[in-house]
Amino acid sequence: MEYIYAPWRMNYLVRDKSKDECVFCVDSSCYENKYVLFEAKHSYVKLNTFPYNCGHLLVIPKTHTKELNGLSYESGAEIMKVTSLSCDILKKVYHCNAINVGLNIGKAAGAGIEQHLHFHIIPRWEGDVSFYTVCSELRVVSEILDDTFNKLTGDFKKIKL
Ligand SMILES: [Zn+2]
Repeated sequence: MEYIYAPWRMNYLVRDKSKDECVFCVDSSCYENKYVLFEAKHSYVKLNTFPYNCGHLLVIPKTHTKELNGLSYESGAEIMKVTSLSCDILKKVYHCNAINVGLNIGKAAGAGIEQHLHFHIIPRWEGDVSFYTVCSELRVVSEILDDTFNKLTGDFKKIKL
C-alpha cells in the first residue's frame, strides 16, 4: 500500500462554506497577492491554490459574473489573449505535452466557486496521474506553490498587452 500526502487539500475540504465570500473579487491591493502572476485591465492570472497539477493557473475576469454573457466583449477578448500567453509560458517553463483549458459553469459542471467565472489552465504530461482525479478527491501535485510561482513570474512580468 502506498500513501500519497496532499495536506493543503484539507484546508479546502474543511473550510466553513457558510462564510464564503467571493474569493475572486478582490480590491486592487490584493492583486499584489503573492500568487497573482499578472494583472491586465479586465482580468488577472493567479496560481490555483488548490491545484490539480503543477502549474495550474486561473485566468479570472475582474467582473463578478457566473455567466459567459456577463463579460463585455473587451473582457472576453482580453481573457482569450491572456489565456493564450499563459499557455505559451507554461509550455516554455514546464515543457508540458499538452494543456487543458477549461471553464466549469455551474456546480453540476464542477465549479468549485460557481458565482464567479474563472478559466482553468492545466499543464499535462504523458502519463501524469490525473486518473486519481477521476476516482476520488485526491490529486497529486509534485511541486509547492512558491516554487511554481518563482518559475513563472519572470515570464509573466515580460507580458505587454
Ligand atoms: Zn466575484
